[in-house]
Amino acid sequence: MIEEIQAKVLLSHVKQPDTWFGLKYNMNLYRGCQHQCIYCDSRSECYRIENFDTEVLVKANAIELLEKELASKRVKGTIGTGSMNDPYMPLEEEVNLTGRALKVIARFGFPVHIMTKSDLVLRDLDTLCEINTRFAAVSFTVTTADDELAKKLEPGASLVSDRFRAMKTLSDHGIQTGVTMMPILPFIEDDEENIRQIVEKAHAHGPAYIIPWFGMSLRDRQRAYYYDKLDKLFPGLRQKYERMFGNQYHCAVPNADRLSRMFNELCDRYGIATRMKRYEPETGIQMRLF
Ligand code: SF4
Repeated sequence: MIEEIQAKVLLSHVKQPDTWFGLKYNMNLYRGCQHQCIYCDSRSECYRIENFDTEVLVKANAIELLEKELASKRVKGTIGTGSMNDPYMPLEEEVNLTGRALKVIARFGFPVHIMTKSDLVLRDLDTLCEINTRFAAVSFTVTTADDELAKKLEPGASLVSDRFRAMKTLSDHGIQTGVTMMPILPFIEDDEENIRQIVEKAHAHGPAYIIPWFGMSLRDRQRAYYYDKLDKLFPGLRQKYERMFGNQYHCAVPNADRLSRMFNELCDRYGIATRMKRYEPETGIQMRLF
């Protein structure tokens, strides 16, 4: 079900410093996500998104709010989107909320970081190039190099191969792009071959960075949903998780150290950074010097 709602505010402040993406503000244009990744943390009770799997709420007044809020911001900090829902879920093709929001951001001259699992981001290539005169970065989340496995784990998202192709186009246009390789699911995606293939496929598509996390998070109703999916997709695996992780929230893959070493060696070999270059605002001193 898709429903329109009126939001009270759009931009939230991100706790500083944000060492991953350098965000100052975060923006959610939707509530709920059509990509339906089986491991999605947004199902957790703390976020209070009821009906995450059956309903998407569209913030119908988002553009109006964004204009008003950006007009009153003195600091041109990076605006992030894509952590609680995918800004390019299939619905976006018709609603164009992200596309319109980016145009507003371009007009106000703010930097942006987008996280997505969709090649629909290419629709907004021109706007992203305009934003990139200050700063634009796009991270594609990739947890497996295998399209068939991804269809099971992330059933509503673009094929991984399409995400990589979109990455190449953005990179060819000078936009900083890379991979958020997270989560890596224990006993499903934590084999050396998967990590090697992600790095090698990424390497062929111009990434500046790959940010890894060798594990996943599990809690309350999100864990229950994930375990239910494991029972259907990978019979017997739930019991292995229960034995290994109990009620743990952070669940590292058992071979995290070995995978991490291999990953770092590969990234060194291909000249891929393991952190994103973040937007640095011009300081008063720099402004005076130049
Ligand atoms: S794309 Fe992101 S927000 Fe959407 S279901 Fe997948 S993990 Fe959750």
